[in-house]
Amino acid sequence: MTTKSTPPIEFSQSVGELTDRIKTKATTLSKDFLNSLGAVCPSSTTVEDLVEHSRDWWPLAMHWSLNGKTPRRSDVVCRPTSTEQVSEVVSLCAKNSVPVTVSGGRSGVCGAAVPLFAGVVIDTTNLCGVVSVDQISGLIEVRPGTFGPDLENEINSKYKLSVGHFPQSFDISTVGGWIGSRGAGQYSTRYGKIDDMVAGLEIVLADGSVILTGTEPAGAAGPNLTSLFIGSEGTLGVITKVWLRAHPLPAVTKKAAFRFETFADAVETMRTAIRNGATPAVLRLYDERESKRSHGGDGKTCTLLVLDEGVEVLIDATLKIVGDAAINNHGQPAETELVDNWLHHRNDTSGLQALSKKGFVIDTMEVAVAWSRVNEVADAVRQSIMQVSGARSASCHISHSYLDGACIYFTFAAEPKEKNLESIENTYTQIWDAAQNAALQSGANLSHHHGVGINRAKYIKRALGPAHDVLSAIKKSLDPQDILNPGKLAFASKRGEFNLD
Ligand SMILES: Cc1cc2nc3c(=O)[nH]c(=O)nc-3n(C[C@H](O)[C@H](O)[C@H](O)COP(=O)(O)OP(=O)(O)OC[C@H]3O[C@@H](n4cnc5c(N)ncnc54)[C@H](O)[C@@H]3O)c2cc1C
Repeated sequence: MTTKSTPPIEFSQSVGELTDRIKTKATTLSKDFLNSLGAVCPSSTTVEDLVEHSRDWWPLAMHWSLNGKTPRRSDVVCRPTSTEQVSEVVSLCAKNSVPVTVSGGRSGVCGAAVPLFAGVVIDTTNLCGVVSVDQISGLIEVRPGTFGPDLENEINSKYKLSVGHFPQSFDISTVGGWIGSRGAGQYSTRYGKIDDMVAGLEIVLADGSVILTGTEPAGAAGPNLTSLFIGSEGTLGVITKVWLRAHPLPAVTKKAAFRFETFADAVETMRTAIRNGATPAVLRLYDERESKRSHGGDGKTCTLLVLDEGVEVLIDATLKIVGDAAINNHGQPAETELVDNWLHHRNDTSGLQALSKKGFVIDTMEVAVAWSRVNEVADAVRQSIMQVSGARSASCHISHSYLDGACIYFTFAAEPKEKNLESIENTYTQIWDAAQNAALQSGANLSHHHGVGINRAKYIKRALGPAHDVLSAIKKSLDPQDILNPGKLAFASKRGEFNLD
Protein backbone atom coordinates (compact mmCIF):
# COMPACT_ATOMS: atom_id res chain seq x y z
CA MET A 1 0.00 0.00 0.00
CA THR A 2 1.34 3.45 -0.97
CA THR A 3 1.06 5.83 1.96
CA LYS A 4 3.57 8.51 1.08
CA SER A 5 3.48 11.54 -1.15
CA THR A 6 6.18 12.02 -3.78
CA PRO A 7 8.24 15.24 -3.46
CA PRO A 8 8.34 17.20 -6.73
CA ILE A 9 12.05 18.03 -6.69
CA GLU A 10 14.95 18.22 -4.23
CA PHE A 11 15.70 21.34 -2.18
CA SER A 12 18.90 23.22 -2.93
CA GLN A 13 19.57 23.70 0.79
CA SER A 14 19.27 21.55 3.86
CA VAL A 15 15.72 21.75 5.20
CA GLY A 16 16.82 23.77 8.24
CA GLU A 17 18.12 26.56 6.00
CA LEU A 18 14.99 27.02 3.87
CA THR A 19 12.90 30.18 4.11
CA ASP A 20 9.20 30.68 3.31
CA ARG A 21 8.57 32.38 -0.03
CA ILE A 22 5.03 33.43 0.90
CA LYS A 23 4.86 35.82 3.82
CA THR A 24 1.57 35.82 5.69
CA LYS A 25 0.66 36.59 9.27
CA ALA A 26 1.72 33.76 11.55
CA THR A 27 -0.81 31.94 13.70
CA THR A 28 0.50 31.26 17.19
CA LEU A 29 -0.43 27.83 18.47
CA SER A 30 -0.38 27.35 22.21
CA LYS A 31 1.26 24.39 23.93
CA ASP A 32 -2.19 23.33 25.14
CA PHE A 33 -3.49 23.32 21.59
CA LEU A 34 -0.56 21.19 20.37
CA ASN A 35 -1.00 18.77 23.29
CA SER A 36 -4.74 18.44 22.61
CA LEU A 37 -4.04 17.83 18.92
CA GLY A 38 -1.43 15.21 19.75
CA ALA A 39 -3.97 13.44 21.96
CA VAL A 40 -6.38 13.07 19.01
CA CYS A 41 -4.01 11.54 16.46
CA PRO A 42 -0.30 11.32 15.58
CA SER A 43 1.11 14.75 14.79
CA SER A 44 4.52 16.08 13.86
CA THR A 45 6.42 19.35 14.06
CA THR A 46 9.69 18.12 12.58
CA VAL A 47 11.17 20.53 10.09
CA GLU A 48 11.22 17.76 7.44
CA ASP A 49 7.47 17.24 7.75
CA LEU A 50 6.70 20.95 7.81
CA VAL A 51 8.67 21.78 4.67
CA GLU A 52 7.36 18.81 2.67
CA HIS A 53 3.76 19.68 3.59
CA SER A 54 4.36 23.29 2.61
CA ARG A 55 4.54 22.51 -1.11
CA ASP A 56 3.02 20.55 -3.98
CA TRP A 57 3.98 20.08 -7.66
CA TRP A 58 3.31 23.69 -8.69
CA PRO A 59 6.10 24.28 -11.23
CA LEU A 60 6.90 27.80 -9.97
CA ALA A 61 7.40 26.39 -6.47
CA MET A 62 9.90 23.90 -7.92
CA HIS A 63 12.08 26.91 -8.74
CA TRP A 64 11.64 28.05 -5.15
CA SER A 65 12.84 24.63 -3.96
CA LEU A 66 15.88 25.01 -6.21
CA ASN A 67 16.56 28.45 -4.70
CA GLY A 68 16.41 27.69 -0.99
CA LYS A 69 12.73 28.49 -0.50
CA THR A 70 9.53 26.69 0.28
CA PRO A 71 6.02 28.16 -0.21
CA ARG A 72 4.64 28.40 3.35
CA ARG A 73 5.23 26.09 6.28
CA SER A 74 2.41 25.02 8.56
CA ASP A 75 2.95 24.78 12.33
CA VAL A 76 2.01 21.13 12.67
CA VAL A 77 1.10 18.16 10.49
CA CYS A 78 -1.39 15.61 11.80
CA ARG A 79 -2.31 12.20 10.43
CA PRO A 80 -5.80 11.02 11.40
CA THR A 81 -6.95 7.52 10.60
CA SER A 82 -10.72 7.89 11.08
CA THR A 83 -13.59 10.28 10.45
CA GLU A 84 -13.92 10.76 14.21
CA GLN A 85 -10.33 11.92 14.48
CA VAL A 86 -10.76 14.36 11.56
CA SER A 87 -13.89 15.69 13.23
CA GLU A 88 -12.03 16.20 16.53
CA VAL A 89 -9.11 17.94 14.81
CA VAL A 90 -11.42 20.30 12.94
CA SER A 91 -13.47 21.04 16.10
CA LEU A 92 -10.28 21.87 17.95
CA CYS A 93 -9.19 24.21 15.14
CA ALA A 94 -12.65 25.82 15.08
CA LYS A 95 -12.58 26.46 18.82
CA ASN A 96 -9.15 28.08 18.55
CA SER A 97 -9.68 29.74 15.17
CA VAL A 98 -6.68 27.90 13.73
CA PRO A 99 -6.36 27.41 9.93
CA VAL A 100 -6.58 23.81 8.78
CA THR A 101 -5.47 22.76 5.32
CA VAL A 102 -6.08 19.23 4.08
CA SER A 103 -3.59 17.51 1.79
CA GLY A 104 -3.45 14.17 -0.03
CA GLY A 105 -0.65 13.28 -2.45
CA ARG A 106 0.30 16.97 -2.82
CA SER A 107 0.60 16.43 -6.56
CA GLY A 108 -1.55 19.48 -7.35
CA VAL A 109 0.09 21.84 -9.83
CA CYS A 110 -1.34 25.19 -8.67
CA GLY A 111 -0.42 25.29 -4.97
CA ALA A 112 -3.92 24.34 -3.73
CA ALA A 113 -2.59 22.28 -0.79
CA VAL A 114 -0.17 24.97 0.42
CA PRO A 115 -1.20 26.14 3.94
CA LEU A 116 -1.16 29.86 3.13
CA PHE A 117 -1.78 30.95 6.73
CA ALA A 118 0.13 28.10 8.39
CA GLY A 119 -1.73 26.38 11.26
CA VAL A 120 -2.58 22.68 10.96
CA VAL A 121 -2.16 20.43 7.94
CA ILE A 122 -4.33 17.32 7.90
CA ASP A 123 -2.36 14.75 5.92
CA THR A 124 -4.97 12.20 4.76
CA THR A 125 -2.57 9.55 3.55
CA ASN A 126 -3.17 7.37 6.61
CA LEU A 127 -6.94 7.73 6.18
CA CYS A 128 -6.86 5.23 3.37
CA GLY A 129 -8.13 1.94 1.97
CA VAL A 130 -11.21 0.45 0.34
CA VAL A 131 -13.94 0.10 3.00
CA SER A 132 -16.61 -1.88 1.14
CA VAL A 133 -17.70 -2.85 -2.36
CA ASP A 134 -21.25 -3.30 -3.66
CA GLN A 135 -20.25 -5.54 -6.55
CA ILE A 136 -23.75 -5.73 -8.05
CA SER A 137 -24.08 -1.95 -8.34
CA GLY A 138 -20.37 -1.27 -8.87
CA LEU A 139 -20.18 1.12 -5.89
CA ILE A 140 -16.86 1.47 -4.07
CA GLU A 141 -16.67 2.98 -0.58
CA VAL A 142 -13.14 4.28 -0.13
CA ARG A 143 -11.15 6.52 2.21
CA PRO A 144 -9.84 9.79 0.68
CA GLY A 145 -6.12 9.19 1.29
CA THR A 146 -6.04 6.12 -0.99
CA PHE A 147 -3.55 6.47 -3.84
CA GLY A 148 -4.59 5.52 -7.40
CA PRO A 149 -2.70 2.20 -7.71
CA ASP A 150 -3.95 0.98 -4.30
CA LEU A 151 -7.56 1.62 -5.28
CA GLU A 152 -7.35 0.04 -8.74
CA ASN A 153 -5.19 -2.96 -7.72
CA GLU A 154 -7.64 -3.94 -5.01
CA ILE A 155 -10.87 -3.58 -6.98
CA ASN A 156 -9.34 -5.07 -10.17
CA SER A 157 -8.06 -8.19 -8.45
CA LYS A 158 -10.84 -8.86 -5.94
CA TYR A 159 -13.93 -7.62 -7.78
CA LYS A 160 -13.00 -7.32 -11.49
CA LEU A 161 -14.00 -3.66 -11.34
CA SER A 162 -12.31 -0.40 -12.37
CA VAL A 163 -13.21 3.21 -11.61
CA GLY A 164 -11.48 4.27 -14.85
CA HIS A 165 -9.87 7.42 -13.40
CA PHE A 166 -6.29 7.52 -14.70
CA PRO A 167 -4.77 11.01 -14.40
CA GLN A 168 -1.17 11.35 -15.49
CA SER A 169 -0.45 11.68 -11.76
CA PHE A 170 -2.26 8.39 -11.00
CA ASP A 171 0.68 6.97 -8.96
CA ILE A 172 1.20 10.09 -6.82
CA SER A 173 -2.33 11.37 -6.17
CA THR A 174 -5.22 10.35 -3.91
CA VAL A 175 -8.97 9.94 -4.22
CA GLY A 176 -9.57 13.01 -1.98
CA GLY A 177 -7.23 15.13 -4.09
CA TRP A 178 -8.95 14.02 -7.34
CA ILE A 179 -12.23 15.28 -5.89
CA GLY A 180 -10.78 18.35 -4.15
CA SER A 181 -9.34 19.62 -7.42
CA ARG A 182 -12.08 18.23 -9.74
CA GLY A 183 -9.71 16.22 -11.87
CA ALA A 184 -9.93 14.25 -15.11
CA GLY A 185 -8.22 11.03 -16.12
CA GLN A 186 -6.76 10.13 -19.50
CA TYR A 187 -9.64 7.69 -20.22
CA SER A 188 -12.32 10.30 -19.47
CA THR A 189 -14.07 10.23 -22.83
CA ARG A 190 -15.52 6.84 -21.89
CA TYR A 191 -15.57 7.00 -18.09
CA GLY A 192 -16.12 10.74 -17.48
CA LYS A 193 -14.47 13.26 -15.19
CA ILE A 194 -14.24 12.67 -11.44
CA ASP A 195 -17.52 14.66 -11.24
CA ASP A 196 -19.24 11.76 -13.02
CA MET A 197 -17.63 9.08 -10.86
CA VAL A 198 -18.51 10.34 -7.39
CA ALA A 199 -21.81 8.92 -6.15
CA GLY A 200 -21.60 10.44 -2.68
CA LEU A 201 -19.35 11.92 0.00
CA GLU A 202 -18.93 11.95 3.75
CA ILE A 203 -17.76 15.41 4.81
CA VAL A 204 -16.49 16.90 8.04
CA LEU A 205 -17.72 20.50 8.11
CA ALA A 206 -15.89 23.47 9.63
CA ASP A 207 -17.55 23.01 13.05
CA GLY A 208 -16.55 19.33 13.16
CA SER A 209 -20.02 17.96 12.33
CA VAL A 210 -20.30 15.17 9.78
CA ILE A 211 -22.71 14.99 6.82
CA LEU A 212 -23.44 12.49 4.03
CA THR A 213 -24.40 13.84 0.62
CA GLY A 214 -26.28 10.69 -0.43
CA THR A 215 -25.17 7.75 -2.56
CA GLU A 216 -28.30 7.08 -4.64
CA PRO A 217 -27.70 6.82 -8.42
CA ALA A 218 -29.75 9.96 -9.12
CA GLY A 219 -31.69 12.29 -6.89
CA ALA A 220 -34.03 15.24 -6.80
CA ALA A 221 -34.02 16.22 -3.14
CA GLY A 222 -33.01 19.79 -3.88
CA PRO A 223 -29.68 20.78 -5.47
CA ASN A 224 -26.88 18.24 -5.75
CA LEU A 225 -24.83 18.69 -2.57
CA THR A 226 -22.14 16.25 -3.69
CA SER A 227 -21.27 18.66 -6.52
CA LEU A 228 -20.78 21.54 -4.10
CA PHE A 229 -17.73 19.84 -2.59
CA ILE A 230 -16.21 18.57 -5.84
CA GLY A 231 -13.54 21.11 -6.78
CA SER A 232 -13.85 23.00 -3.49
CA GLU A 233 -10.09 22.57 -2.84
CA GLY A 234 -10.51 21.93 0.87
CA THR A 235 -12.26 25.25 1.51
CA LEU A 236 -15.76 23.97 2.38
CA GLY A 237 -15.17 20.72 4.24
CA VAL A 238 -12.85 17.75 4.67
CA ILE A 239 -13.82 14.68 2.64
CA THR A 240 -13.51 11.63 4.89
CA LYS A 241 -15.22 8.99 2.78
CA VAL A 242 -16.12 8.62 -0.88
CA TRP A 243 -18.46 6.40 -2.86
CA LEU A 244 -17.17 5.93 -6.41
CA ARG A 245 -18.93 4.38 -9.40
CA ALA A 246 -16.99 1.50 -10.98
CA HIS A 247 -17.22 -0.37 -14.28
CA PRO A 248 -16.62 -4.03 -15.18
CA LEU A 249 -12.98 -4.61 -16.18
CA PRO A 250 -12.75 -4.24 -19.97
CA ALA A 251 -12.56 -7.49 -21.96
CA VAL A 252 -11.05 -6.04 -25.15
CA THR A 253 -8.84 -3.04 -26.08
CA LYS A 254 -8.44 -1.68 -29.62
CA LYS A 255 -6.43 1.25 -31.00
CA ALA A 256 -6.23 3.51 -34.04
CA ALA A 257 -4.18 6.53 -35.12
CA PHE A 258 -4.48 9.18 -37.84
CA ARG A 259 -2.44 12.06 -39.26
CA PHE A 260 -3.99 15.31 -40.45
CA GLU A 261 -2.60 18.18 -42.50
CA THR A 262 -4.53 20.69 -40.38
CA PHE A 263 -5.48 20.95 -36.72
CA ALA A 264 -8.96 22.16 -37.75
CA ASP A 265 -9.66 18.96 -39.77
CA ALA A 266 -8.68 16.83 -36.81
CA VAL A 267 -10.83 18.88 -34.43
CA GLU A 268 -13.76 18.42 -36.79
CA THR A 269 -13.11 14.66 -36.79
CA MET A 270 -13.31 14.57 -32.99
CA ARG A 271 -16.38 16.75 -32.87
CA THR A 272 -18.39 14.74 -35.38
CA ALA A 273 -17.34 11.40 -33.89
CA ILE A 274 -18.36 12.46 -30.40
CA ARG A 275 -21.59 14.09 -31.53
CA ASN A 276 -22.44 10.89 -33.41
CA GLY A 277 -22.19 8.95 -30.15
CA ALA A 278 -18.62 7.57 -30.25
CA THR A 279 -16.92 7.91 -26.86
CA PRO A 280 -13.57 6.08 -27.13
CA ALA A 281 -11.78 6.00 -23.76
CA VAL A 282 -8.80 7.88 -25.23
CA LEU A 283 -9.15 10.49 -27.98
CA ARG A 284 -6.13 12.78 -28.06
CA LEU A 285 -5.12 15.23 -30.75
CA TYR A 286 -1.59 16.68 -30.83
CA ASP A 287 -0.74 19.84 -32.78
CA GLU A 288 2.16 19.91 -35.25
CA ARG A 289 4.78 20.79 -32.64
CA GLU A 290 3.75 18.14 -30.11
CA SER A 291 3.34 15.53 -32.87
CA LYS A 292 6.94 16.15 -33.86
CA ARG A 293 8.22 16.24 -30.30
CA SER A 294 6.55 13.06 -29.06
CA HIS A 295 4.71 11.17 -31.83
CA GLY A 296 7.10 10.82 -34.77
CA GLY A 297 5.47 13.67 -36.75
CA ASP A 298 7.22 15.69 -39.46
CA GLY A 299 6.39 19.08 -37.94
CA LYS A 300 3.67 19.72 -40.52
CA THR A 301 1.01 17.21 -39.50
CA CYS A 302 -1.15 16.67 -36.43
CA THR A 303 -1.67 13.28 -34.77
CA LEU A 304 -4.90 11.78 -33.44
CA LEU A 305 -4.60 8.81 -31.06
CA VAL A 306 -7.61 6.62 -30.32
CA LEU A 307 -8.01 3.79 -27.83
CA ASP A 308 -11.16 2.13 -26.68
CA GLU A 309 -11.87 -0.70 -24.28
CA GLY A 310 -14.83 -2.73 -23.08
CA VAL A 311 -17.22 -4.95 -25.04
CA GLU A 312 -15.99 -5.75 -28.55
CA VAL A 313 -19.15 -4.92 -30.48
CA LEU A 314 -19.29 -1.45 -28.88
CA ILE A 315 -15.60 -0.77 -29.49
CA ASP A 316 -15.84 -1.82 -33.14
CA ALA A 317 -18.77 0.52 -33.66
CA THR A 318 -16.95 3.35 -31.86
CA LEU A 319 -13.74 2.94 -33.88
CA LYS A 320 -15.77 2.77 -37.12
CA ILE A 321 -17.49 6.08 -36.30
CA VAL A 322 -14.13 7.73 -35.51
CA GLY A 323 -12.47 6.19 -38.60
CA ASP A 324 -15.27 7.39 -40.91
CA ALA A 325 -15.09 10.89 -39.41
CA ALA A 326 -11.31 10.93 -39.95
CA ILE A 327 -11.56 9.89 -43.61
CA ASN A 328 -14.33 12.45 -44.23
CA ASN A 329 -12.01 15.13 -42.82
CA HIS A 330 -8.90 14.23 -44.87
CA GLY A 331 -7.24 12.12 -42.15
CA GLN A 332 -4.68 9.46 -43.08
CA PRO A 333 -4.55 6.21 -41.04
CA ALA A 334 -1.23 5.86 -39.17
CA GLU A 335 0.46 2.98 -37.33
CA THR A 336 -1.20 1.99 -34.03
CA GLU A 337 2.30 1.73 -32.45
CA LEU A 338 1.88 5.47 -31.90
CA VAL A 339 -0.77 4.61 -29.30
CA ASP A 340 1.50 1.95 -27.74
CA ASN A 341 4.32 4.51 -27.47
CA TRP A 342 1.99 6.98 -25.79
CA LEU A 343 0.86 4.27 -23.35
CA HIS A 344 4.51 3.57 -22.40
CA HIS A 345 5.59 7.18 -21.92
CA ARG A 346 2.39 8.93 -20.89
CA ASN A 347 3.25 9.36 -17.20
CA ASP A 348 6.92 10.26 -17.61
CA THR A 349 7.42 13.85 -16.45
CA SER A 350 11.17 13.78 -15.87
CA GLY A 351 11.63 16.58 -18.43
CA LEU A 352 9.94 19.01 -16.06
CA GLN A 353 12.55 18.59 -13.33
CA ALA A 354 15.49 18.44 -15.77
CA LEU A 355 14.53 21.67 -17.56
CA SER A 356 13.63 23.47 -14.31
CA LYS A 357 17.13 22.68 -13.02
CA LYS A 358 18.56 24.35 -16.14
CA GLY A 359 16.60 27.50 -15.29
CA PHE A 360 13.85 27.09 -17.91
CA VAL A 361 10.29 28.08 -17.11
CA ILE A 362 8.03 25.14 -17.99
CA ASP A 363 4.37 24.64 -17.26
CA THR A 364 1.04 23.52 -18.69
CA MET A 365 -2.34 25.21 -18.77
CA GLU A 366 -5.59 23.41 -19.47
CA VAL A 367 -8.91 25.02 -20.29
CA ALA A 368 -12.24 23.78 -21.62
CA VAL A 369 -14.17 25.39 -24.45
CA ALA A 370 -17.18 24.73 -26.68
CA TRP A 371 -16.40 23.01 -30.01
CA SER A 372 -17.28 26.16 -31.96
CA ARG A 373 -14.34 28.02 -30.36
CA VAL A 374 -11.67 25.33 -30.03
CA ASN A 375 -9.53 26.49 -32.96
CA GLU A 376 -9.80 30.14 -31.98
CA VAL A 377 -8.70 29.47 -28.38
CA ALA A 378 -5.85 27.18 -29.47
CA ASP A 379 -4.47 29.89 -31.80
CA ALA A 380 -5.03 32.81 -29.41
CA VAL A 381 -3.28 31.18 -26.46
CA ARG A 382 -0.27 29.86 -28.39
CA GLN A 383 0.23 33.26 -30.05
CA SER A 384 -0.11 35.18 -26.79
CA ILE A 385 2.48 32.99 -25.08
CA MET A 386 4.97 33.45 -27.91
CA GLN A 387 4.72 37.24 -27.60
CA VAL A 388 6.20 37.14 -24.09
CA SER A 389 9.90 37.91 -23.93
CA GLY A 390 11.90 34.70 -23.48
CA ALA A 391 9.16 32.34 -24.74
CA ARG A 392 10.71 29.45 -26.66
CA SER A 393 7.73 27.22 -27.42
CA ALA A 394 3.96 27.02 -27.06
CA SER A 395 2.06 23.95 -28.15
CA CYS A 396 -1.17 22.14 -27.37
CA HIS A 397 -3.13 18.94 -27.51
CA ILE A 398 -6.78 18.16 -27.01
CA SER A 399 -6.87 15.75 -24.12
CA HIS A 400 -10.55 15.30 -23.19
CA SER A 401 -13.71 15.56 -25.30
CA TYR A 402 -17.38 16.04 -24.51
CA LEU A 403 -20.64 16.32 -26.42
CA ASP A 404 -20.37 20.11 -26.40
CA GLY A 405 -16.65 20.82 -26.33
CA ALA A 406 -13.16 19.82 -25.31
CA CYS A 407 -10.19 20.46 -23.05
CA ILE A 408 -7.19 22.13 -24.71
CA TYR A 409 -3.96 21.41 -22.84
CA PHE A 410 -1.18 23.89 -23.54
CA THR A 411 2.51 23.36 -22.79
CA PHE A 412 4.99 26.23 -22.74
CA ALA A 413 8.71 26.66 -22.26
CA ALA A 414 10.63 29.90 -21.78
CA GLU A 415 14.18 30.94 -21.13
CA PRO A 416 14.29 33.92 -18.77
CA LYS A 417 16.83 36.64 -19.57
CA GLU A 418 18.75 35.80 -16.45
CA LYS A 419 18.75 32.56 -14.52
CA ASN A 420 17.98 34.16 -11.16
CA LEU A 421 14.73 33.60 -9.27
CA GLU A 422 13.38 37.10 -9.87
CA SER A 423 13.73 36.74 -13.62
CA ILE A 424 12.21 33.24 -13.53
CA GLU A 425 9.21 34.47 -11.53
CA ASN A 426 8.67 37.46 -13.85
CA THR A 427 8.72 35.31 -16.96
CA TYR A 428 6.44 32.73 -15.36
CA THR A 429 3.89 35.37 -14.33
CA GLN A 430 3.96 37.13 -17.69
CA ILE A 431 3.32 33.90 -19.58
CA TRP A 432 0.49 32.83 -17.30
CA ASP A 433 -1.14 36.26 -17.55
CA ALA A 434 -0.84 36.21 -21.33
CA ALA A 435 -2.14 32.65 -21.69
CA GLN A 436 -4.97 32.77 -19.17
CA ASN A 437 -6.19 36.18 -20.35
CA ALA A 438 -6.15 35.06 -23.99
CA ALA A 439 -8.08 31.91 -23.07
CA LEU A 440 -10.75 33.79 -21.09
CA GLN A 441 -11.03 36.48 -23.75
CA SER A 442 -11.58 33.95 -26.52
CA GLY A 443 -14.29 32.06 -24.68
CA ALA A 444 -12.61 29.31 -22.65
CA ASN A 445 -13.17 28.66 -18.96
CA LEU A 446 -10.57 29.09 -16.20
CA SER A 447 -9.55 25.48 -15.73
CA HIS A 448 -10.56 22.04 -16.93
CA HIS A 449 -8.90 19.82 -14.28
CA HIS A 450 -5.88 21.38 -12.56
CA GLY A 451 -8.03 23.72 -10.46
CA VAL A 452 -7.26 27.15 -9.03
CA GLY A 453 -4.85 26.94 -6.09
CA ILE A 454 -2.60 29.93 -5.57
CA ASN A 455 -1.58 30.27 -9.19
CA ARG A 456 -5.01 30.96 -10.64
CA ALA A 457 -6.65 32.75 -7.70
CA LYS A 458 -6.14 36.15 -9.30
CA TYR A 459 -8.26 35.24 -12.36
CA ILE A 460 -11.19 33.48 -10.70
CA LYS A 461 -13.36 36.54 -10.03
CA ARG A 462 -13.09 37.55 -13.66
CA ALA A 463 -13.85 34.00 -14.80
CA LEU A 464 -16.91 33.53 -12.57
CA GLY A 465 -18.24 37.09 -12.46
CA PRO A 466 -21.05 37.64 -9.92
CA ALA A 467 -21.24 33.85 -9.42
CA HIS A 468 -18.11 34.23 -7.28
CA ASP A 469 -20.25 36.20 -4.78
CA VAL A 470 -22.53 33.17 -4.50
CA LEU A 471 -19.54 30.91 -3.82
CA SER A 472 -18.24 33.41 -1.22
CA ALA A 473 -21.64 33.45 0.51
CA ILE A 474 -21.59 29.63 0.70
CA LYS A 475 -18.05 29.75 2.12
CA LYS A 476 -19.06 32.34 4.72
CA SER A 477 -22.05 30.34 5.80
CA LEU A 478 -20.26 26.97 5.99
CA ASP A 479 -17.01 28.30 7.43
CA PRO A 480 -17.77 31.55 9.30
CA GLN A 481 -14.39 31.53 11.08
CA ASP A 482 -12.50 30.96 7.83
CA ILE A 483 -10.48 28.03 9.10
CA LEU A 484 -10.64 25.72 6.04
CA ASN A 485 -7.76 26.30 3.61
CA PRO A 486 -8.03 30.09 4.10
CA GLY A 487 -7.00 32.41 1.29
CA LYS A 488 -7.91 30.00 -1.52
CA LEU A 489 -10.42 30.38 -4.39
CA ALA A 490 -10.02 34.17 -3.86
CA PHE A 491 -12.32 34.09 -0.83
CA ALA A 492 -11.74 37.19 1.29
CA SER A 493 -9.93 36.09 4.43
CA LYS A 494 -9.98 37.81 7.79
CA ARG A 495 -6.45 36.51 8.20
CA GLY A 496 -5.13 38.98 5.65
CA GLU A 497 -4.00 38.81 2.07
CA PHE A 498 -1.13 37.08 0.45
CA ASN A 499 0.91 38.20 -2.47
CA LEU A 500 4.17 37.19 -4.02
CA ASP A 501 5.79 40.64 -4.15
C1 LIG B 1 2.90 14.99 -13.31
C2 LIG B 1 1.50 15.40 -12.99
C3 LIG B 1 0.47 15.04 -13.84
C4 LIG B 1 -0.85 15.40 -13.54
N1 LIG B 1 -1.85 14.95 -14.36
C5 LIG B 1 -3.14 15.20 -14.02
C6 LIG B 1 -4.20 14.66 -14.83
O1 LIG B 1 -3.99 13.94 -15.79
N2 LIG B 1 -5.47 14.95 -14.44
C7 LIG B 1 -5.74 15.70 -13.33
O2 LIG B 1 -6.92 15.89 -13.02
N3 LIG B 1 -4.75 16.23 -12.59
C8 LIG B 1 -3.47 15.99 -12.89
N4 LIG B 1 -2.46 16.50 -12.12
C9 LIG B 1 -2.76 17.38 -10.98
C10 LIG B 1 -2.94 16.61 -9.64
O3 LIG B 1 -2.28 15.40 -9.65
C11 LIG B 1 -4.39 16.39 -9.38
O4 LIG B 1 -4.98 17.65 -9.12
C12 LIG B 1 -4.73 15.44 -8.24
O5 LIG B 1 -6.10 15.20 -8.29
C13 LIG B 1 -4.34 15.94 -6.87
O6 LIG B 1 -4.46 14.88 -5.94
P1 LIG B 1 -3.59 14.89 -4.60
O7 LIG B 1 -3.97 13.72 -3.80
O8 LIG B 1 -2.15 15.01 -4.93
O9 LIG B 1 -4.16 16.21 -3.94
P2 LIG B 1 -3.40 17.43 -3.21
O10 LIG B 1 -2.47 18.10 -4.19
O11 LIG B 1 -2.83 16.98 -1.93
O12 LIG B 1 -4.65 18.40 -2.94
C14 LIG B 1 -5.34 19.00 -4.01
C15 LIG B 1 -6.50 19.83 -3.44
O13 LIG B 1 -7.50 18.96 -2.92
C16 LIG B 1 -7.73 19.25 -1.56
N5 LIG B 1 -7.96 17.97 -0.87
C17 LIG B 1 -7.15 16.89 -0.83
N6 LIG B 1 -7.71 15.92 -0.07
C18 LIG B 1 -8.88 16.41 0.37
C19 LIG B 1 -9.89 15.91 1.23
N7 LIG B 1 -9.83 14.70 1.77
N8 LIG B 1 -10.95 16.70 1.51
C20 LIG B 1 -11.06 17.95 0.98
N9 LIG B 1 -10.14 18.47 0.15
C21 LIG B 1 -9.06 17.72 -0.13
C22 LIG B 1 -6.49 19.97 -1.06
O14 LIG B 1 -6.78 20.82 0.04
C23 LIG B 1 -6.10 20.75 -2.28
O15 LIG B 1 -6.84 21.93 -2.34
C24 LIG B 1 -1.13 16.16 -12.40
C25 LIG B 1 -0.08 16.53 -11.54
C26 LIG B 1 1.21 16.15 -11.83
C27 LIG B 1 2.31 16.52 -10.89
